[in-house]
Amino acid sequence: MLLQVTESAQKKYEELAELDKKHFFHPSTSFRQQKAEGPGFIFTEGKGIYLKDIRGREVIDSLSSLWNVNIGHGREELAIAAMEQMKKLAYSSTFATNSHEPVIRLAAKIAEMAPGDLNYTFFTCGGSESNDTAFKTARYYWKMKGYKNKTKIISRGKSYHGVSIGASPATGLFPFRDFPGLSQDHLYVDSSIEALKEMIEREGAENIAAIISEPVQGSGGVNLPPSQNFFKEVREICDQNDILFIADEVINGFYRTGKNFGIDNFDVVPDMMAIAKGITSGYAPLGGVVFTDRLKDELTELTEGNFYHGYTYSGHNTACAVALKNLEIIEQEKLNENVNLMGAELLKGFKYLEQTHEEIGNIRQIGLLGAIEIFKDRETKTTFEEPVSLKVVEEALKHNMIGRAIVYEGQDTIAFAPPFCITKDEVEKMISIIDTSLTAVKQRL
Ligand code: PMP
Repeated sequence: MLLQVTESAQKKYEELAELDKKHFFHPSTSFRQQKAEGPGFIFTEGKGIYLKDIRGREVIDSLSSLWNVNIGHGREELAIAAMEQMKKLAYSSTFATNSHEPVIRLAAKIAEMAPGDLNYTFFTCGGSESNDTAFKTARYYWKMKGYKNKTKIISRGKSYHGVSIGASPATGLFPFRDFPGLSQDHLYVDSSIEALKEMIEREGAENIAAIISEPVQGSGGVNLPPSQNFFKEVREICDQNDILFIADEVINGFYRTGKNFGIDNFDVVPDMMAIAKGITSGYAPLGGVVFTDRLKDELTELTEGNFYHGYTYSGHNTACAVALKNLEIIEQEKLNENVNLMGAELLKGFKYLEQTHEEIGNIRQIGLLGAIEIFKDRETKTTFEEPVSLKVVEEALKHNMIGRAIVYEGQDTIAFAPPFCITKDEVEKMISIIDTSLTAVKQRL
């Protein structure tokens, strides 16, 4: 396990670490940890489920980095697709009536994959911008229909929808919206139909623009909906109350749950779908919002002049070319089918861990998205005073795996979302590292 770091690699690391500490404001970080420790890994390359850092250390990327490198690291074809597009035309505007082939083909591809009449895509650079766009358009739609008070957005507890000024206050997880000056037009509801009905009754449907939900929650701990029918009921409530339903597919979309989109698991067609991450497997920043034909037609009817919303990089030529190649490879190599096959292996591994460790419970898996939870007493669902998952993940790192602990709101969870190219041996390796790491941590408890 101990790695011989060459003197020159160590020197380069130290030089970069100093610069990092001084100049790089990291996303989602602890200022103090960065100041004290500097960068943990300075990644230089990747292959499949593995990442390599500047000091030559190779580690398993058990979460596909940020649930996004779905195809796996180091796919040269995507680099070639980017290069070919860049050589021809790296970027051109899509404002007004301007267009280009990659964005047209990609929008058509998304329509082919998306459920129901979700056929019309607006492009962004990522998930937060997608949710901003969905909220802005929902409010605009109601205003144009003459309901200017229909502005509130309902989100579920433990939800994550991004960090922009529009997406932060929609995020149920408290630390992400604990910033001053955010919009108050947001409501948070427990994941129950009764609670949702009560909220709509209390707040008045005439004040609510939309409900947003991840079909399977990611950052909140990989949480499946409370019942198979949950989203059907949400859809019905939305229809009865003239509320738009937005599915946040930023993690779920593009096969992560084993189906094209997360919402396909529940046979529901939302009014809008926010997409990002897996569309390019992270090889280029790209996101979007997919609208139904019904909404498209109504927006067309309601809007006389311009719809004044668009990002410079909406439908970026190179990013769209990369997305098309990414989706083509995933289909050609049947990596989408591998999601279900390896998902079953992951569940087998979780069951083994549950049998081996009486602390593990509440296991969940859908496609290559899964989590285990750690309890002091799994019968009563009592957790340890200090989250154990953080220690297990720390230990797993010694065995060369980057794991993801989720400890918001009293949870003690380890989440898994490996690249779709993962093999059975690699799934077993991840499970075995967790097994060994948990055993070691328990001895110290
Ligand atoms: N929605 C969901 C469900 C997400 O998981 C994320 C990112 N983790 C976002 C939105 C925000 O996406 P981005 O970080 O690309 O802005």
